[in-house]
Amino acid sequence: MTIGLPRAFLYYRYRILWETFFENLSIQTVTSPPTNREILRKGTMYAIDEACLSSKIYLGHVEALIGKCDYIFVPRISNFGVREILCTKFSALYDIVSNTFRERDFNILEYNVDVRKSENEMSAFLKLGKAAGKKGRQVFFAYMMAKQAEKLEYEGNLQRQMILLKEKGLKVLVVGHGYNVYDAFVGEPVLNYLKSLGVTPIIAEIADRKKVRDLAADFSDTLPWVYNKELVGAVLDYKDRVDGIILLSAFPCGPDSLVNEIIIRRVKDKPVLNLLIDSQEAAGGVETRLESFTDILHTVHSGA
Ligand code: SF4
Repeated sequence: MTIGLPRAFLYYRYRILWETFFENLSIQTVTSPPTNREILRKGTMYAIDEACLSSKIYLGHVEALIGKCDYIFVPRISNFGVREILCTKFSALYDIVSNTFRERDFNILEYNVDVRKSENEMSAFLKLGKAAGKKGRQVFFAYMMAKQAEKLEYEGNLQRQMILLKEKGLKVLVVGHGYNVYDAFVGEPVLNYLKSLGVTPIIAEIADRKKVRDLAADFSDTLPWVYNKELVGAVLDYKDRVDGIILLSAFPCGPDSLVNEIIIRRVKDKPVLNLLIDSQEAAGGVETRLESFTDILHTVHSGA
């Protein structure tokens, strides 16, 4: 059995967890290629106009996997508890994919997390393994191995980021969802261009999750979206250790537009650049803005 993993959305957050789980069950995985113009073109063609760029990209990745695997892994994650919800796209993903491609011949491997309905991550993995025809003990072992690998990756990323924070020179906090920040079409060109300008990007998503969630809870007890809360907490945690902040979002995003506004109002002592990437512009069109922003950072940094 080969399982296709769309290189989009929560793949960037749970890649190690998912891949290690399947590997420990001796299930082969194939991942769609990094986003390119063709993937975006097809995703845009299948998506409704109002969909955010990230969900268009997701559909393009699903399309790229059809015919290349036995199942496509499409997680449905609704919430991790009360006030720990995800953007509605993530709870609707299974239905969006199955309806969009209803005339194509492919199978979806389901994975449901809805803690408010007693479906937590572990039970979702146990059901997933069973659906793949594996025995309970084997699935449990695979899940525990995957959690261990995920923890090691998380700690390694955090350590590397702490080292980057101590480097000399300009540092910019890049605030955005991993699926945007690391996407080859959306955020990767921004990170690469910043580096070419001699600026070190610090990634808000790489943070001490307990600490940033506590900071976000102190800041607001009404924000509902769990990943956005982490980003707000990361801004509060990192803002005094960087020279500026870039808010990187995909157009149009409801949660980000609200949360970015909150961040802009809250952060008064650091330059903030709001970068909204759409399918026409992509990140290639933002170089001039990044250059101007870097000039401002140099001026502030040198105290001119
Ligand atoms: S949070 Fe924003 S970018 Fe992410 S899926 Fe929802 S609308 Fe799209």
